[in-house]
Amino acid sequence: MESTSDKTKETAIPLNTPVQFLKGVGSQLAVLLEKLGLRTALDCLFFFPRDYEDMSELRSIEQLEEDKPLSVCGKVEKIEFRKTGPGRSMLAVLIRDGDQFLRAVWFNQPYMRDKFSHGSFVLFSGTARKRGVHWEMAHPRVEMVENESALQQGSILPVYPLTEGLRQPQVRRIIEGVIRQCASAVEEVFPEEILGQFNIWPIRTALPQVHFPTDRASIEQARRRFIFQELFVLQLAVAMRRAMVSTQRHSPSLSVNGKIDARIRRLLPFRLTAAQNHVVEEIVMDLGETHPMNRLLQGDVGTGKTVVAAYAMLVAVAHGYQAALMAPTEVLAQQHVETFRQLLSNSQVRIALLSGSQSGSQRRQLRRAIELGEVDLVVGTHALVKSGVAFPRLGLVVVDEQHKFGVLQRAQLRSAGLDPHYLVMTATPIPRTIAMAIFGDLDDSILCEGPQGRQKVHTYWAAPQQRERWWKFFQKRLGEGRQGYVIAPRIDARAEPRVASAEQSFSELSQGPLAGFRVGLVHGRLSAGDKQAALEKFRSGVTRVLVATSVVEVGIDVSNATIMTIEDGQQFGLAQLHQLRGRVRRGNYPGYVCVFADPRTDEARERLEAFVHTSDGFQLAEVDYRLRGPGELFGTRQHGVVPLRIADLMRDSDVLQEARTAAQTLVAGDPQLLDKGYERLRQMVFHRYGEVFELGDVG
Ligand code: ADP
Ligand code: MG
Repeated sequence: MESTSDKTKETAIPLNTPVQFLKGVGSQLAVLLEKLGLRTALDCLFFFPRDYEDMSELRSIEQLEEDKPLSVCGKVEKIEFRKTGPGRSMLAVLIRDGDQFLRAVWFNQPYMRDKFSHGSFVLFSGTARKRGVHWEMAHPRVEMVENESALQQGSILPVYPLTEGLRQPQVRRIIEGVIRQCASAVEEVFPEEILGQFNIWPIRTALPQVHFPTDRASIEQARRRFIFQELFVLQLAVAMRRAMVSTQRHSPSLSVNGKIDARIRRLLPFRLTAAQNHVVEEIVMDLGETHPMNRLLQGDVGTGKTVVAAYAMLVAVAHGYQAALMAPTEVLAQQHVETFRQLLSNSQVRIALLSGSQSGSQRRQLRRAIELGEVDLVVGTHALVKSGVAFPRLGLVVVDEQHKFGVLQRAQLRSAGLDPHYLVMTATPIPRTIAMAIFGDLDDSILCEGPQGRQKVHTYWAAPQQRERWWKFFQKRLGEGRQGYVIAPRIDARAEPRVASAEQSFSELSQGPLAGFRVGLVHGRLSAGDKQAALEKFRSGVTRVLVATSVVEVGIDVSNATIMTIEDGQQFGLAQLHQLRGRVRRGNYPGYVCVFADPRTDEARERLEAFVHTSDGFQLAEVDYRLRGPGELFGTRQHGVVPLRIADLMRDSDVLQEARTAAQTLVAGDPQLLDKGYERLRQMVFHRYGEVFELGDVG
């Protein structure tokens, strides 16, 4: 570190220097750097290594030890590539170091082949096993090395994300130069007391060390600073929004007394479970406040969220307010309306459905009725928001299956005057730490158990040769009076003839294995009316099997359906598979799901294995997160909601907790961060999150 700060005096350059003018970078390299998001010197400083190459762990092949993560360097002697089946392949690369050999192998990653050429030097990192006379590493990390002597330059080297045409040593050189020339110009965002209190390295120490650490311990300390910073800024935004909502937004206080409670419960066809009662209590507390409720209700499929929502909506109605429920699909909206009509058949509550498939004049009429206050409960799809309807007295908005809408898409339904209370429900469980970080301004309720008598679902991943046996089993269940689903990823075979389609399965099954039974078909290309009719036939038991695409993924509730075949399961996401499985966990009989699948990637294989072995939605959510990252999981990536570069919400959950507490304390004392010492932090919060959290302008 000493030496770095000495060198900084050499030639200082401004932080906004375009990369093109950096030492050793011309217009050509600049184009490549731009692809990595690097436009200025400052960008380079904050371009964190994705990993480090610890040369102190570099061994000769001779010194390898079994089952210990180590690196070896050698010259490529032989490259072997073989197709091992449709979509399957094996690549073996033999390297030589003195008179010793090591073989690296990759399965089903044909693109890896292009990385290697005979005679080049490579560095493999991974765990080696002795196979006969040779050492072998499966799927090691690979780095190209200019020549053997290039390895001697430092004990721990950064490994940066690259793009086609850029080499690791180039990027290292560029970044090293930038650090020398301008790391000392970067200003600290944290006031002294925060650095001290949380044992955070100052920026000028952390920056050079995060790129070129002196030892392992420095990596941890330097990274910790940036991880903390990212999470702290996020949590400040969350805390500031929360403070803002509770002080600046006003909602009607919808308190519940014994009379209202009894009147609502009389309408329900069953007693609420303990878990439902608990959540209802939490909601009732919030509704009584004069600032908006902001509650996330998480509950696995079939845990009974709808009735909880109905309770809350009826509280609003009891106070003379309107309530709206937004569903992600028309089918689901329709189903909710039916549920409510049944529940409320003996009451005065006026219910309406507003959906995209209604005619313009129908919608206009409904709009008018809503605006005149002639409707109490409105169920709608996105058409509800698009219609621009203005509720005169909107007390509560419920968003069902929030994950289908994308994250943080706050209900854009506004009411004249006061803000409505807000309840979002999701059946795609969000790992606790992530819920806290991203939905941190929402309170969290969890329905952990479903109504009693709910059965287990047996899940199998079957090989193609087990098909016949499975269909026999399927027929047997149908013969006993049950119903079943067959799910295919595509509607028809036109675009991708190799992927199972609902139309094809429908015709094959009706003539083949399910010839004796009435089979229905439903998919997204049917008109709303046809879809509705197909579902109705299935619901009433006229059709015994429903062949479908993932349109039945959410909400379809037919308790007699207990068996499901999923074709080409590798095409579905983990959350989706779990949702699909939820369709046969609704009745008093055990459910059975059989997936046929041909995973082409490790990720797909892991996903399927997790699906088969775990039925706990929260656990699956964690696996999903690990495999795909949070952005994919919650649709946040495209919204740019959580621009994290170095922190990982799950891995760094302890730092997250620390940052959260710190942010809450800070915001409690200074809700808008007006203290001079926080000026830079405040700017950073607004710059990153001002828009998504509706915090307003930096001002
Ligand atoms: P989800 O949480 O997946 O939206 P639903 O609200 O659709 O679940 O409920 C699933 C099924 O369980 C429905 O058929 C519903 O009528 C039933 N149900 C919900 N709560 C109870 C309860 N307390 N007792 C008995 N059945 C219930
Ligand atoms: Mg539901």
